Amino acid sequence: MGLLSHGAPLSWDEAKLQADHVRKNGIEQFLSVYRKLKDRQNDFLKWGDEVEYFFVKLNDKEKAAKLSLNSTKYLEILNSEEEDPFTKEAIDSLWRPEYASYMIESTPGTPYGHDISNFLEVEESMMKRRRKIKAFLEDNEYLVTLTNFPRLGCRYCSDPPCEPYGPIAKSIFIPDEFINLHPRFETLTKSIRERRGSKVNISVPIFHDKFVVRPFREPLVSPDGVAERVAKPDTIYMDAMCFGMGCSCLQMTFQACSLSTARYLYDQLAVMSPIMLALSAGSPIYRGFLADVDCRWNVIAQSVDDRTEEELGQIPLANNKFVINKSRYDSIDCFISPGPFFKHAYNDLRLVKDDLVYNRLVTEGVDDLLAQHVAHLFIRDPLVVYKESLHQDNEAQSEHFENIQSTNWQTVRFKPPPPGSSIGWRVEFRPMEVQMSDFENAAYVVFVVLLTRVFLSFNLNLYLPISLIDENIQNAQKRDAVNSGLFHFRTILTAGSCGKETELMTLDKIINGEGDFLGLVPLIFIFLDSITIDLHTRFRILQYLSLISKRAKGELLTTAAYLRKFVTEHPDYKHDSVVSERINYDLVKMAVSVGEGEIIPELVGDCYKKNMCFKESREQNL
Ligand code: ADP
Ligand code: MG
Ligand code: MG
Repeated sequence: MGLLSHGAPLSWDEAKLQADHVRKNGIEQFLSVYRKLKDRQNDFLKWGDEVEYFFVKLNDKEKAAKLSLNSTKYLEILNSEEEDPFTKEAIDSLWRPEYASYMIESTPGTPYGHDISNFLEVEESMMKRRRKIKAFLEDNEYLVTLTNFPRLGCRYCSDPPCEPYGPIAKSIFIPDEFINLHPRFETLTKSIRERRGSKVNISVPIFHDKFVVRPFREPLVSPDGVAERVAKPDTIYMDAMCFGMGCSCLQMTFQACSLSTARYLYDQLAVMSPIMLALSAGSPIYRGFLADVDCRWNVIAQSVDDRTEEELGQIPLANNKFVINKSRYDSIDCFISPGPFFKHAYNDLRLVKDDLVYNRLVTEGVDDLLAQHVAHLFIRDPLVVYKESLHQDNEAQSEHFENIQSTNWQTVRFKPPPPGSSIGWRVEFRPMEVQMSDFENAAYVVFVVLLTRVFLSFNLNLYLPISLIDENIQNAQKRDAVNSGLFHFRTILTAGSCGKETELMTLDKIINGEGDFLGLVPLIFIFLDSITIDLHTRFRILQYLSLISKRAKGELLTTAAYLRKFVTEHPDYKHDSVVSERINYDLVKMAVSVGEGEIIPELVGDCYKKNMCFKESREQNL
């Protein structure tokens, strides 16, 4: 979720006057932590997951599924348990607000440890979390883990219904009531709009089924009769931050044993981001239309793109401004580890950085790679500034640093330790889309943790030029990328290069291997064979790996492929790419059931069933 502070945020006009103050002190705060903790060693490999949920209401009589805007209500109860000294110690899940008032985020109560048997706790923790929140729900209210609500932004898609075109988002689709009540979210929305000087302008290609007219164009008129001229033909147009930040995802954070290990992991996980985005694809529908993409990434990037015309290079630059190549939400622009496999040629994007920040860091002894990473984050303005936190003790606080850091939403995030805490240097892995069941979410999470173990144990080298990762990010989102996409990947992962370093591979080859290329799942098996691991844990891990492996092979469908199939095979579907109220109802109802344990063979095959059999046979044996 990111930084939440208390108090009243400044308006954009006031906040922008504080931008230099926040940056200047933010850098001192980073430097303070860096000086104190750069040499800290031997932190444990801890890690945790974050799952985001939507609240929905099912109206069985009218066959309608609506978003339920109850998040604040439930958070108050859940957070008061966290704060109560009598219940605090026994808390096994933590709950945080997310952008939309129909969303909530959960994490395990404490991070998992380095023990392999911790892998068994993930799914159990996710199931417990779902049960916990279920206990509070109203009649007909349910929890789903869908990346996007298919009819988000269609008229009256919430219960109770609300009108769009409020003063915060000014969206012709999204009511302001959908924005979480915490002032951070309203302020982010307004500041982004005001900074860029217009509403955000999001478009994704529409899926051209046989009855979609070419070019596809919608008459888009605001409630006060003004035509919206920004919609591009053949795209689904969206005009509010909620369309992106109102999507759910599955994230993970890893604590590394040292700063240099965190930097190494950051780089390797950056390369894995597009691969895991394609494998976890789960969002083929936007605003009631089938799209020609399977993932949310470009939607969310456009939904918080606060760049001005100058920064976009559309008008000449004034002083101290930069032309910026990407949204604040996007793939990373530079690697940060100076480890043995890194080559400067891999950082092949022209990096935009704040030279004042860079020089300050370098003067204080921060090396070039880390200094340019931070100086790149600091090209952005702080969007939410609280008057109460303007003056801080830079040796003991880090809110100014976190302000800029937490509104740079990239595929991976390098997280310095919070001042005065026992937490170490961490890396957050952010690209994955959430799956409908806890079993699938646990499988993706365990797969990624195992990958980090394999990277570290075998000292793997996944480096690609950043420009190729960017190409992969675009390819990962295309419809059916998991089967038909090709991705740049290193041909040899175990050493530096000789000859041609990379080639275009299918996801199947990357994950399962082919010819001389071993593949990531087989590498994980080698790792598992090298450690002591009890049978039960091993069996469960095999189930998870089998899901990942079969999805990469195309033997099982990704969530996106399944949702697309669900729509196109629905009796109410008219081959016009429209996801009607009725289809939406059946789809959301299905997602509710899957969340509650229904097995869909096309999605999970026999992976989960075998798991159950194992449990039963164990019980029989006891
Ligand atoms: P965010 O930046 O998303 O707000 P948080 O600091 O709240 O992140 O932590 C989110 C994730 O990090 C959770 O999954 C949590 O379990 C995990 N986490 C918390 N502390 C640690 C730690 N010391 N090491 C690794 N992961 C941690
Ligand atoms: Mg979140
Ligand atoms: Mg997070």
